[in-house]
Amino acid sequence: MIFETLSVFPEVFEPYLGVSILGRARRAGVYEFAAHDLRDWTHDRHRTVDDAPFGGGQGMLMKPEPLYEALDDLASHGPRPHVVFFSPCGRRFDQRVAERLAGEERLLLVCGRYEGMDERAYALADEVLSLGDYVLTGGELAALVVIDAVCRLLPGALGDEMSAVDESFSPAGLLEYAQYTRPASFRGMDVPEVLLSGDHARVAAWRRQSAIERTALWRPDLLEGADLTDDERERAREIARRAVTGEERGDGRASS
Ligand code: SAH
Repeated sequence: MIFETLSVFPEVFEPYLGVSILGRARRAGVYEFAAHDLRDWTHDRHRTVDDAPFGGGQGMLMKPEPLYEALDDLASHGPRPHVVFFSPCGRRFDQRVAERLAGEERLLLVCGRYEGMDERAYALADEVLSLGDYVLTGGELAALVVIDAVCRLLPGALGDEMSAVDESFSPAGLLEYAQYTRPASFRGMDVPEVLLSGDHARVAAWRRQSAIERTALWRPDLLEGADLTDDERERAREIARRAVTGEERGDGRASS
């Protein structure tokens, strides 16, 4: 898969993409990355990419011309890019969107700055995505978030092919179960005995229960779409109800 960014700060991507899983995956050829500098498609001495908004108001907007020229140019070679723009006004990025984007051959991520873009620029986008209901200074972090979330879904990105399977927001629609490492006893907090038992069936049952409890406590909004049996759903609703009334601990370590 090919990821490309178009922004006025192309230098911010490499440090993050160079380390850990993303760095290893790139070196292994799981994905390719190129950061394009929007100023390469300007023609004035100052390489201007912004201008004041018509109608007045604060701040500057990204001009449409360099964006159109850049996209014409970039789309003229290689596979047709799927073009994503970023804006707080966009559709919320989530794991389902990441899964869909992982099926693209070439993703071109266009990052805004300043007060955003001339409205006509959005006609270039196949879709507009938002990270969430807050305003960032630029789209570069959003692009890195998308690359990170999509990349780890690509075949060969994670060392263990299974590790993306029962994570939070996986198709079962539950948060991930609680996990522990050594020491088994730490500052008076003990790892649940079943996890030390070596009994795989009991461990699997405990994990399922833990995932349901955590989802009910922390993200009861996910229960509706979760893949649960009638009994599990009933129990999850009960945990969520008790959490609202303060009867259940709110830290995910529900007593069972
Ligand atoms: N004036 C705009 C915000 C512009 S912020 C508004 O009020 O809607 C500048 C740039 O940062 C945007 O063009 C976008 O690329 C990026 N950005 C800011 N917040 C973002 C968010 N929540 N999700 C994704 N990108 C965001």
